[in-house]
Amino acid sequence: MNELIEKDINKNHSIINTNALFLVGKMMDDALLEIDLNYEIKDANTAAKRLLGDNLIGSLIYERVISDALKDELQVCINKKDKIGEFTATLKNNEYHQLTGRLMIISDHRAAVLLMDMTLQHNVEKMRRDFISNISHELRSPLTSLMGFIETLQNTPNIENNMKERFLKIMEDEAKRMSRLIDDLMSLSKVEVEEHIAPTGKVFIKTVLSSVIASMNNRAMKTGHVIDFQDQRANKTEEPIIRGESDEIIEVFHNLIDNALKYSYSESTIKIKLTDAPIGRVIVDIVNNGEGIEAKHIPRLTERFYRVDKGRSRQMGGTGLGLAIVKHIISKHRGELHIKSELKGETSFEVSLPYFHTLLSALKSNE
Ligand code: ADP
Repeated sequence: MNELIEKDINKNHSIINTNALFLVGKMMDDALLEIDLNYEIKDANTAAKRLLGDNLIGSLIYERVISDALKDELQVCINKKDKIGEFTATLKNNEYHQLTGRLMIISDHRAAVLLMDMTLQHNVEKMRRDFISNISHELRSPLTSLMGFIETLQNTPNIENNMKERFLKIMEDEAKRMSRLIDDLMSLSKVEVEEHIAPTGKVFIKTVLSSVIASMNNRAMKTGHVIDFQDQRANKTEEPIIRGESDEIIEVFHNLIDNALKYSYSESTIKIKLTDAPIGRVIVDIVNNGEGIEAKHIPRLTERFYRVDKGRSRQMGGTGLGLAIVKHIISKHRGELHIKSELKGETSFEVSLPYFHTLLSALKSNE
């Protein structure tokens, strides 16, 4: 193999054996091109055709990519033959596609160009940057408010008692908001790290729903809400079981019922319906009546910090992370979340999870 990629300057002015180079190129996921010094593409591997399109041979590399640095780098490499040039580029027909390129002179008339698609890495990096900037912003606003009130209290020694009480209540709310945000961030980071680990426990869905509903009933009553649980399965005697982690499934339904209470009309009914799906799945549908969600927002609701109405969410004590946590837990449990909403009508968050009622039958037959 070494002989194939040997240096062969004296014989035919080739620095490396281009046949060997393109033989190796067949195994690569990155695009490999051979161009002449007028930028015309002379050879290309399959990955290059996938990235840059068909009919590459004979076209100019500048017809396929945009790059300010490519020309200069080629010139530098012509002058200094053992240099590997580096440049960035975007696809001519898709400027959001980020490429990192390397080039190397391989003979007196030819250069090899390697193009690596960095779009995914760029997007991940952008998401990470956005997330950190969102967290900083979300933490800074309650902190600024707290500091403002502390300063006011310090500089107003004779402040009236009722005013002081009011300020302290706001400070308490802001501190609780920061604490909720930190709890949600920790939950999200835990579930993201563990998302690929398949759950091993057994969750009795009806029992979990009853305990979540019981824990939220008091709160519901304060706003005149009624939480109405309906088991609509064909066989109501059989306890629906899924394979999962109880704490996480509780967190899913807690978040969804909490949202149903927050974003529905006061004194309305929150319906929680348990149904069977045709292929071995149990469905829990949480339905509330309220202003509803415009269709354009629905696909983005599970993004971290995405809120339809920031002011409303803040006023209700929201962190903007609840549905992101819900999405990750459901996906860890190989489930699905479907959101439907009509304006000034019903909004439904439907969770479907793989059903393990066969588990019970299996256990029974072993008795
Ligand atoms: P938040 O802490 O703001 O409630 P979530 O991630 O739980 O954050 O929800 C994101 C957004 O989705 C909310 O701010 C709200 O705009 C919208 N939303 C969630 N649940 C409902 C619902 N049941 N009805 C209407 N809008 C909802």
